[in-house]
Amino acid sequence: MIPYGRQDISDDDIKAVVAALKSDFIAQGPAVAAFEAAVAAKVGARHGVAVNSATSALHIACLALGVGPDDRVWTSPITFVASSNAALYCGASVDFVDIDPIRWTMSVAALEQKLKAAKTSGTLPKVVIPVHFMGEPCDMAAIAALAREYRFKVIEDAAHAIGGRYDDNPIGACQHSDITVFSFHPVKVITTGEGGMAMTNDDSVAKALRRLRSHGITRDAGDMTGGTHGGWYYQQLELGYNYRMTDIQAALGLSQLQRLDDFVARRHALADRYDALLKHLPLQLPLRDARHYSGLHLYPVVLHRHDRRAVYDALQAAGVGVNVHYIPVHTQPYYQRLGFKAGDFPNAEQYYARTLTLPLYPGLAEAEQDTVVAALAKALA
Ligand SMILES: *Cc1c(COP(=O)(O)O)cnc(C)c1O
Repeated sequence: MIPYGRQDISDDDIKAVVAALKSDFIAQGPAVAAFEAAVAAKVGARHGVAVNSATSALHIACLALGVGPDDRVWTSPITFVASSNAALYCGASVDFVDIDPIRWTMSVAALEQKLKAAKTSGTLPKVVIPVHFMGEPCDMAAIAALAREYRFKVIEDAAHAIGGRYDDNPIGACQHSDITVFSFHPVKVITTGEGGMAMTNDDSVAKALRRLRSHGITRDAGDMTGGTHGGWYYQQLELGYNYRMTDIQAALGLSQLQRLDDFVARRHALADRYDALLKHLPLQLPLRDARHYSGLHLYPVVLHRHDRRAVYDALQAAGVGVNVHYIPVHTQPYYQRLGFKAGDFPNAEQYYARTLTLPLYPGLAEAEQDTVVAALAKALA
């Protein structure tokens, strides 16, 4: 079976993990700090705060921006459930902004319309979480302009997008956002097994993120109430979590980061090949905006007229592990119980009804890609 995504682990990665295991630190230690500094330098952010998943990063990102029970958070319905669950963890309420039917990311026109209505009804969001679906950047300059006008904060869900660029800036530089979140799950662009990181240029947000990932505890005397009792002393200032990354994971991440540019370049070469090989088939192919550079985590296609389930089953039977990204979050039973209904976000629902994600990962051989294309052509014949 050709999977839709797969990690690429080298001998150097394995050596780095073994070295971490033999070192004095295997939980959060110097390798985590080194990984944070390396990712921050790579993407041009002041701070990186490593955690045990992007889901955790999204949760503490919401908390660090002050999201609480009286607040609203908006995101795209075409995302993994974690993007919106993070806001629910904070007790906030969630709403969605429909996607653009060509770009498949949050529609800025729909966002603006929804903001206008929310201003009238006094229900503006505290935070908007645009998702760089597939690795393709959302229109961040336009979203940032709306953020200034309507006074909301922005968390970029860049789980798909490390290694990409918005204009000439690496995604993660937070040029147009307060916080950007990466995922290091094995199917994503680089991996730490499980892991994530929150990037920010704001010193006080970074401090809050560091506290929240570790029980709300500080060891910085300057932040304590009443002063320190001595070298052993710490204070819990708020209710935090144990969301720490281990040095074993960070060692893998540091080693993977060396190949980030190669991984994304290989994804682009394969995506260009898909574009050429698939252009005569009855499909809508994913758009890549030439002004930016996608992280290219995913290569979804939309079927013009075929039954998606039949094509999915035929490809699976042919050994091609196609997948579907994503089931619109608002159609999940849990979200239906919160009051969302089928029909709420029609572009997302129409996209979902006809999409399939084709295999794309650095180790995918061209011969395997040809097998995928041949199986898809046969299924559509
Ligand atoms: C994978 C993913 C997440 C969650 O990442 P984890 O590291 O698995 O917690 C969040 N948002 C999007 C868009 C994702 O694809």
